[in-house]
Amino acid sequence: MATVFVVGAGPAGLFAAQKLALAEHEVIIFNRDVKPGGLAEYGIYPVKDKMKVGLRKQFAKVLALPNVHYFGHVPVGANSAVSIDSLREFKPAAMLFAVGAQGTKKLGLPGEGALGVYSAKDFVYYYNQLPPFASQDFSTGKRVAIIGMGNVMVDIARWLLLDDPAHNAEEIIVVARRGPLEAKFDDKEFEHIHMYLDRKAFQDELLRVQDRMTAVGQDIAKVPEETFLCLAKHPEQQSIGPRLTFRFMNSPVAITPGPDGRIARLTVAENILVNRNDSIAAKVTEQTIDLEVDTMIFAIGDMHDASVGLPFGKEGYVTNPEPADPKASYEVFDPAFRRVSEGIFVVGWARKPSEGLVGIARHDGEVGAAHVAQYLSDIQPRQSASADDIARALKAKGIQFVSKSDLSLLARAEEREAHSRGVAYCKFSDDAVMLSAIKQEKSTSTEPVSETVS
Ligand SMILES: Cc1cc2nc3c(=O)[nH]c(=O)nc-3n(C[C@H](O)[C@H](O)[C@H](O)COP(=O)(O)OP(=O)(O)OC[C@H]3O[C@@H](n4cnc5c(N)ncnc54)[C@H](O)[C@@H]3O)c2cc1C
Repeated sequence: MATVFVVGAGPAGLFAAQKLALAEHEVIIFNRDVKPGGLAEYGIYPVKDKMKVGLRKQFAKVLALPNVHYFGHVPVGANSAVSIDSLREFKPAAMLFAVGAQGTKKLGLPGEGALGVYSAKDFVYYYNQLPPFASQDFSTGKRVAIIGMGNVMVDIARWLLLDDPAHNAEEIIVVARRGPLEAKFDDKEFEHIHMYLDRKAFQDELLRVQDRMTAVGQDIAKVPEETFLCLAKHPEQQSIGPRLTFRFMNSPVAITPGPDGRIARLTVAENILVNRNDSIAAKVTEQTIDLEVDTMIFAIGDMHDASVGLPFGKEGYVTNPEPADPKASYEVFDPAFRRVSEGIFVVGWARKPSEGLVGIARHDGEVGAAHVAQYLSDIQPRQSASADDIARALKAKGIQFVSKSDLSLLARAEEREAHSRGVAYCKFSDDAVMLSAIKQEKSTSTEPVSETVS
């Protein structure tokens, strides 16, 4: 059976690994983070315990398969100690990239480098305790603008309104390019924060943009039925503080820092709505206004990370453009040579950034794995390096990787720490701390360590 390298241990990579391992292939996973899980561990909202615990258990089952091997704390990239070319030297039969969408979509605004301006992904990684973000400065102030109107915006507003231990926020201003009927969040998620919505300010805002909605055939009466269902479900709700407000049909155009270098003003342009290809688009006008804010978080979706070293184009990683072939969009394509990069595949958010929830990423990983399995059945077998060979090669390069048994030790150390702090669960948020906890457990442990994640 063939050896497949899976790069990235989020839901897409892990479920792809499971499918390939159950087809009796040898699967070797390389993951940037110490722990597996990707955004399921470090993106999903911290208090969604049931979902996180359930996913952790499923991931542990994948890693428990004897023909799945794990090298955590090993980023693969053109500027890393392990590059795609160095992986090729181990002669895998195929490589499946499931690295997610780690790049940041910049707004390209003047002043974007001001303090207090963050990308949503970095901010989410911070409050979910992913190293190194967990120990970086993501301080927020009293007036926070969140750009975007999807579920990630709702998560961030929820954190600032409800769970942020600093409780600094007085007003969260959601800035959206389009109108209230283009809101993209799920009502189930908005239910967590609807009581903060400043109802009076919201009605005023609807009236402010009403003419622009009417111009494209929209009716503000539809808002409580179609997007802000809380207005119909909880008509008597009294708004509580801090305030949650919306600025519809506004696009950020400039950031002005104050004397301390922190964002002090966000200039936004007024937009009009236009009908374009059966959907509603925003068109920027010359008219601008200034919003006084001390923090801005842009939640406008993610993009691929070019530094991984896969062929990269305008849409991110380049895949086979052949429209008639269902496997084409999973195959990496090298535009320089106008051919498929033989045996290299992408799945999950590495294939389509910000596309769907964990279930979609799982399905995509499994579909991609099926294409890989088909590819493997069509090629000549080759002699690949074993997991032990790779472990030796990484050690020789001085790379401190984390194995499956190390993950068990880490889980044990976190349990011990939780116990000593008198809390139910503890999650280390620093790579050096995790590596040293593993070392410490190894040196003191008399219990046998299973090859699985507990
Ligand atoms: C803020 C937020 C909240 C969400 N909440 C929910 C929710 O409540 N419910 C839900 O179902 N879905 C939720 N999702 C969506 C869900 O997290 C994604 O659908 C899913 O995680 C995508 O899986 P993936 O494996 O493609 O990518 P990821 O989960 O991003 O995993 C990528 C993996 O690749 C690794 N990696 C990255 N770069 C490299 C590299 N260079 N070398 C090696 N490894 C690398 C990372 O360490 C990571 O382990 C949320 C997403 C976000 C952003």
